Amino acid sequence: MLRSKLPDLGITIFTRMTQLAQETGAINLSQGFPDFAPPAALLDAAMRHLRDGQNQYAPMTGIASLREQVAHKIARRYGRQLDSQREVTIVPGATEAIFCAIQAVVQPGDEVILLDPSYDSYAPSVHLAGGRCVHVPLQQPDFSIDWQRLQAAFSPRTRLLIINSPHNPSGALISRADLDQLAALLRGHDAWLLSDEVYEHLVYDGQLHASVLAHDALYQRAFVVSSFGKTYHVTGWKTGYVAAPPALTDELRKVHQYVNFCGVTPLQHALADFMAAHPEHLDELPHFYQAKRDLFCQLLQPSKLRCVPAPGTYFQLADYSAIRDDLDDVAMAEWLTREAGVAAIPISVFYREPPKDLRLVRFCFAKQDLTLQQAAERLCAL
Ligand code: GLN
Repeated sequence: MLRSKLPDLGITIFTRMTQLAQETGAINLSQGFPDFAPPAALLDAAMRHLRDGQNQYAPMTGIASLREQVAHKIARRYGRQLDSQREVTIVPGATEAIFCAIQAVVQPGDEVILLDPSYDSYAPSVHLAGGRCVHVPLQQPDFSIDWQRLQAAFSPRTRLLIINSPHNPSGALISRADLDQLAALLRGHDAWLLSDEVYEHLVYDGQLHASVLAHDALYQRAFVVSSFGKTYHVTGWKTGYVAAPPALTDELRKVHQYVNFCGVTPLQHALADFMAAHPEHLDELPHFYQAKRDLFCQLLQPSKLRCVPAPGTYFQLADYSAIRDDLDDVAMAEWLTREAGVAAIPISVFYREPPKDLRLVRFCFAKQDLTLQQAAERLCAL
């Protein structure tokens, strides 16, 4: 008798929508990935390291030069000096990092607080650790934290809180004042913090990313996770990192060494080279993506979709109630794919209990301008 450990789960919404886009020939603005090439110097570096023989296991913690580059960047951006040997771990993707961090600290019966809509990998990772998810919805319409509900969600069994800023799918940002409030809230609890900051460099309109790495009290109890995939236009490289104080890093590595042992060697070398040679990439990234966000929102102006420009990430939410108010968002995402030829992601799937009147879908604008123009043309015809 096969007893599923995840009986309520099927295939992720990203796989489903990308498959439907492929079957129908729709423009795929659903799953988040760029349709343009990564920087040529990064590709050259990868080819060079493949040819030069960097094809065997990397150290379990990641190659030293990449850990050092990460520590360097964190010092420059967030003012924290990390020990790159004891506080930085390179992992094959942020998804693995999140899984390992959860397995490292969540014991059977522990509670983990998620802020809904929450990224799809969090809850299954908690369940596999034997933990229980306590879902606290973010407030509409700006996806801000409802402090009263968050406070009320804590119990003596709370072991971990997961936050995500810039936030997928809404693009909302957590502010420095939010982090202060969070630190005050956590002070009375024996709980760890997992801060998913994979979109840390995709923040617009002159705002600065408020990282847990820049917050002393929070960092002491946190795993901070990021992904090179988003920052360097290489989601398929599945390479990310975790920054955490030494005691948490030790526990994370105990899990990581048996989940995957190490990340992909030549790609780590390529990323280390590129980070050292092109620090300006990080400074240019917000402008690059803000221009795409602005183009996409402007192109949708004549449509019946309503957009409030995303403060961060490469996702844009759109209210479709003026087109098909009768459809829920899952049906609407499918309808858009089949009828309009543009695939999107419904956001109700990221909730345990979605708001009843939710009429929002998510579009990914990490696309060539031409792709965005063609998609907008189709959406404006609705
Ligand atoms: N994080 C990506 C998104 O939100 C999807 C990654 C995946 O397909 N697992 O679109």
